[in-house]
Amino acid sequence: MRASVDVMGFNNDSKLSPSQQPKLNEERRRLHHEAEVVIVGAGILGCAIAVALGNQGRSVILLEKDLREPNRIVGELLQPGGVAALEKLGLRDCLEEIDAIKVYGYDVIYYGEEVRIPYPANALEDGGKTQENSHTDEMRGTKRKRPEGRSFHHGRFIQRLRQKAMQNENVTVVEGAATELVRSGWTGQILGVEATVQGERSAFYGGLTIIADGYASKFRKEFRKDLPVAKSKFWGLELIDARLPMPNHGHVVLGDGAPVLLYQIGTHETRALVDIPEGLPSASLAAGGVKGYLKNVVIPLLPAEVRPSFQAAIDRDRLRSMPNSWLPPTTNKAPGLILLGDAMNMRHPLTGGGMTVAFNDAVLLSELLNPQSVPMLDDTKLVLKQMRTFHWRRKGLTSVINILAQALYSLFAADDAQLKALQMGCFQYFKLGGNAVDGPVGLLAGIIRQPFVLFYHFFAVALYAIWIYITSASIISMPVRAIGSVGVFWKACVVIFPYIFSELRT
Ligand SMILES: Cc1cc2nc3c(=O)[nH]c(=O)nc-3n(C[C@H](O)[C@H](O)[C@H](O)COP(=O)(O)OP(=O)(O)OC[C@H]3O[C@@H](n4cnc5c(N)ncnc54)[C@H](O)[C@@H]3O)c2cc1C
Repeated sequence: MRASVDVMGFNNDSKLSPSQQPKLNEERRRLHHEAEVVIVGAGILGCAIAVALGNQGRSVILLEKDLREPNRIVGELLQPGGVAALEKLGLRDCLEEIDAIKVYGYDVIYYGEEVRIPYPANALEDGGKTQENSHTDEMRGTKRKRPEGRSFHHGRFIQRLRQKAMQNENVTVVEGAATELVRSGWTGQILGVEATVQGERSAFYGGLTIIADGYASKFRKEFRKDLPVAKSKFWGLELIDARLPMPNHGHVVLGDGAPVLLYQIGTHETRALVDIPEGLPSASLAAGGVKGYLKNVVIPLLPAEVRPSFQAAIDRDRLRSMPNSWLPPTTNKAPGLILLGDAMNMRHPLTGGGMTVAFNDAVLLSELLNPQSVPMLDDTKLVLKQMRTFHWRRKGLTSVINILAQALYSLFAADDAQLKALQMGCFQYFKLGGNAVDGPVGLLAGIIRQPFVLFYHFFAVALYAIWIYITSASIISMPVRAIGSVGVFWKACVVIFPYIFSELRT
């Protein structure tokens, strides 16, 4: 094992012509397993950052344990803020030829009552000039430009991203499972990873190692003590030819129980994700297990037109689940290593924010590590300095998405009277329309990047909920409700402040 990495000569061998350098670098990656950057995981984040750094002329090795098309129930709805980041990375065409569906916003169904919350008009960074990422709001008969999201089969999208990485002359994609980190015995600096490639042990060296191995990261625990917290799972079904109340919209179904999501992921396929909290009595074995819960609790909540395809999917499919994890972000402090994507930061997938965070992180990180600012990626002091900047600068977007996902989940999965009051207040707030819709959905879409706006709308919902809670009571019970409203306000604080504080950690 080597004590240091020689990355000299990757891009600055003056004896070589510009056309010879990439070829030499490619040989060094293929034959000697040496690059400026080694990335573990060719998922959402890994592919995006590999292409971004490759485009800057960096020599990149991208390691992926399984290059076959993944078949997962995650990462299927990309918010407009994620589409915009994908465009900045030059990867927008990955959304083409995968039978992706345009998404114009959400339809929230609360005990059978619906409210449409479209993505906000003129909220794009470029004021909606990007034609490809916006549409005219025909449903409202207006001419205002509105941004769009996309939903799709995760595996198809991933394969398009991997294809882009493979086509990049500065990126070499290797199928192999990373098993261990390679460290300098002198300094402790991370020098690369050991991996199993075609049954053989091998080592890959880089001035910088990026770990993007996803939610169950093998390497995370070496760098942080806290573990992801998962209080519920999403159970996934694929509905065939489902009739959704509002095509081209994500659907959130609320009622007695945790939320259900529905969104089309292909011409004929619709994803249903059913949130089931840990230890829920109505999903216990005695009550018929998960299938029993889907049949007895979920089906009656669904719009009538969705029920037949939902029932057919229960009868036909193997049920699959994923933990809904919460992991607050931390600053990368290990010399030679960057932890990114779900390996570093996770939030409840209710708001479909994970990929938007990942693509925006790839944009920001590649800006901070660009060769003009950081000529050598093994300059660990400079890289760590840039990582501190990265930690704070990403918050404008990611703290909003993280806090919103967790807070909204608490309200949508309400399991006590105060949370139920807040849930009802939230739905009634959406019904007010205007800024009461544009603000929250703009935050969720990843296009409003101001934590204060989130704070404002959250407490506006809380106060509106309290107002309804008190005024909907009879005159006699109003004083009791007024006292009870203190509990509702207190609950709102308990819901949001822990997540705000978690974002203030270094
Ligand atoms: C139920 C659920 C639904 C979700 N829905 C959405 C949604 O609709 N929209 C959205 O934006 N986000 C969604 N998310 C979140 C989103 O999927 C993640 O945030 C995103 O995939 C994170 O990207 P990543 O690159 O960090 O990890 P991943 O995309 O999981 O990629 C990790 C990669 O690393 C590889 N790998 C793992 N270990 C190794 C190893 N040892 N060696 C080599 N390779 C390795 C894996 O094979 C994989 O390819 C959802 C999450 C869940 C749980």
